[in-house]
Amino acid sequence: MNAQPKGWCPGAYRPMMSGDGLIVRVRPWMGRLSSAQLDAIAAISDQYGNGQIDVTNRANVQVRGIHTKDHGAVLDALAQANLLDANSVLESRRNVLISPIWQEGDLTCRLADELVRRLEELPDLPAKFGFSIDVGPVRHLSAASADIRLERAADGRLIVRADGLDAGRLVAEDEAIDRVMDLARWFSARRDKQFRRMALVLQSQQPEGTWQELTPTHEQSEPQPELTEHGQIVGLPFGRLATKLISEITLKCLGVRLTHNRMLLLEGISGFGHDDAITQKDDPLLRVDACPGMPHCISASIQTRTVARQIATKVSGTLHVSGCEKGCARKSAANTTIVGRDGLIDLIENGTVQSTPKIKGLSPQQLLNEI
Ligand code: SF4
Repeated sequence: MNAQPKGWCPGAYRPMMSGDGLIVRVRPWMGRLSSAQLDAIAAISDQYGNGQIDVTNRANVQVRGIHTKDHGAVLDALAQANLLDANSVLESRRNVLISPIWQEGDLTCRLADELVRRLEELPDLPAKFGFSIDVGPVRHLSAASADIRLERAADGRLIVRADGLDAGRLVAEDEAIDRVMDLARWFSARRDKQFRRMALVLQSQQPEGTWQELTPTHEQSEPQPELTEHGQIVGLPFGRLATKLISEITLKCLGVRLTHNRMLLLEGISGFGHDDAITQKDDPLLRVDACPGMPHCISASIQTRTVARQIATKVSGTLHVSGCEKGCARKSAANTTIVGRDGLIDLIENGTVQSTPKIKGLSPQQLLNEI
């Protein structure tokens, strides 16, 4: 087992240690899990984890609470379910977000297939460096983190765009991945320890030539709870994929597609409802991040998700409830951040868990009065 310190992008081969044990992150192929794979993940969580399964903002799944001694067995189980790359290098390079709106054999699939087949051609890239394939008539990944984006222009033509530039390079399908490789090499030759993302490098230099020909289509829409032509999209409270929900899903559909905003597209079904799924667009829990907290994590001193449910309707904007100052569930600032400390609560406005609290040491009841 080769656990990495925080700040790395955890994977299955290189899990991250958290307060509740190892986090083993799985990158589903095409952002899709068959029902059999969902069952396999639930079984791994039951046998080796603490029952907590999350969907991440990279459309991955992470199983929490794995003991170090069980990491090898978890890898074996993932391999049996066809959820493991050949090695850790390929796993870390396969940082590819795919729009959930695709069908077998279409342009999205063809581009994703070629990019994944050619991962070994990529230069050495930072762990968080990623790609997005968002080539439908409506962009669904414009708010997702990616460094090189495959998109369509307003007139439907295909472009490769460096994140941070307003426009991209016009490409034909059969050269698109070649140009992705070119852009990755351009970045790799210029990045350093400080500038580890495309948009940061582009602040000081830009690629020469025809890399800014066409802007992407303005048609864009974040995945949200609704019915699509491919099935029903449901949200997950706190990104949690409950094992009871998995059981229900696997009874009813052949597979799910994961989105970067922690939702599931349930293939081919409509009218789905479950206590652990969000089916309404205006559900306040869609704005909330909360780590597992007590009793699942030994570092937690509050019941994060209970607190989150109590106050979600009382706050506007984004809410982050963290069981301790590590802030596993969210790194970016939220409108309201709650941090557990020795059983009491610090309240932070417009900041992260590292920001100076507006009020420290509140009891849960005092927090309710304060919000
Ligand atoms: S932030 Fe939450 S999950 Fe992470 S270590 Fe702290 S209590 Fe545990």
